[in-house]
Amino acid sequence: MLYVIPDYYREFKCTADKCGDTCCAGWQIVIDSESRRRYWKEKGNYRKTLRSSIRWLRKTFRQDEEKRCAFLTEDNLCAMYQNLGAKSLCRTCRMYPRHIEVFENVRELSLSISCPEVAKLILSRKKKVTFISKEKGEEEEFKKFSPFLYSQLLDARGVMIDFLQNRNLPIVNRVVLCLGLAYDMQNRVDADRLFACGDITVRYRKQTHFSEAGRKSERFLNDVERQYNFARTMFEDLYRLELLKKEWDMLLQESEVRLFGGGVERYKNIMTEFKEWMDTEYKEDWRVQCEQLMVYFIFTYFCGAVYDERIFVNVQMAVAAVNVIWHLMAAAWLRNEKQLDMEDVVEIVYRYSRELEHSDKNLKLYWKMLERQEDLFR
Ligand code: SF4
Repeated sequence: MLYVIPDYYREFKCTADKCGDTCCAGWQIVIDSESRRRYWKEKGNYRKTLRSSIRWLRKTFRQDEEKRCAFLTEDNLCAMYQNLGAKSLCRTCRMYPRHIEVFENVRELSLSISCPEVAKLILSRKKKVTFISKEKGEEEEFKKFSPFLYSQLLDARGVMIDFLQNRNLPIVNRVVLCLGLAYDMQNRVDADRLFACGDITVRYRKQTHFSEAGRKSERFLNDVERQYNFARTMFEDLYRLELLKKEWDMLLQESEVRLFGGGVERYKNIMTEFKEWMDTEYKEDWRVQCEQLMVYFIFTYFCGAVYDERIFVNVQMAVAAVNVIWHLMAAAWLRNEKQLDMEDVVEIVYRYSRELEHSDKNLKLYWKMLERQEDLFR
């Protein structure tokens, strides 16, 4: 079995009660069957609390009106942990914010940016991310798994990560190259020409598409109306998703009014001024942050297409994420009297991830909406 992790994986440390938010509120925590059995059999003084704090049929922990877990104390610590120790935690609580993607003979581990500490770790990283792999344990065989498609996806993902980390290219061009590669690959797979996918990665590696990507990016950057319409649609789509936290809805509405309320011309002025400010005043380098976010999304989700062959939409989702984050940053900058710092960006990123990445229903609906959209950089 091959285990793969990003090189920052072990740097993560939970800040527990010092955390600016908590991961024990806002979403339903599903309890795995082994933990449920343990909780049911608990005999000590904590038995009564444990029994009454779980919704046994739904297999989740109870929550109060503010969607805080029944075990979450006022100072944001876990009462179960305090009473029964670390080993008592269910699988979800033990694992979070770690995430595992399962493939035949491979486990890919990542950290979720829905945790503010992870978002900070990734956004403050200047070096290009590398991935560490280690062989451990037995081999396995899945009944339904295409090793061939998986190897093609792995190759394509490697090429995309190389593109994204090519700091000689403008960030938009890197993104366009990823979209182009995924789009071409999707067409081959849809036409049952999986064997032809290898040619695409070889062709893209030869950089034949670099100048075309440059032209497409330029066309997009010069077309403000298209940018405006695209960003607006993204925001409208987000309203249609299941709302996990009411603050998210407020943030979206407020940002939408600030950015789009005055029409295309005003939007153009705001975004031009914001970009200039980001290039000259922002203390971090947004291009590097954007690269790290794109690498995060592509690494985490792209190879999952081995199960449903939805290749292009995974890259669309990564692009939509950084696009929405960029616009939420612009709105926050306006609200903060034209100031923005790392803390603001971390907050936007982890809130976005909480709404999108931890709800299967939202992810599926979002994919459907993205699939209906026009090719952004046609
Ligand atoms: S959100 Fe992250 S840092 Fe905060 S308590 Fe949860 S795991 Fe720890």
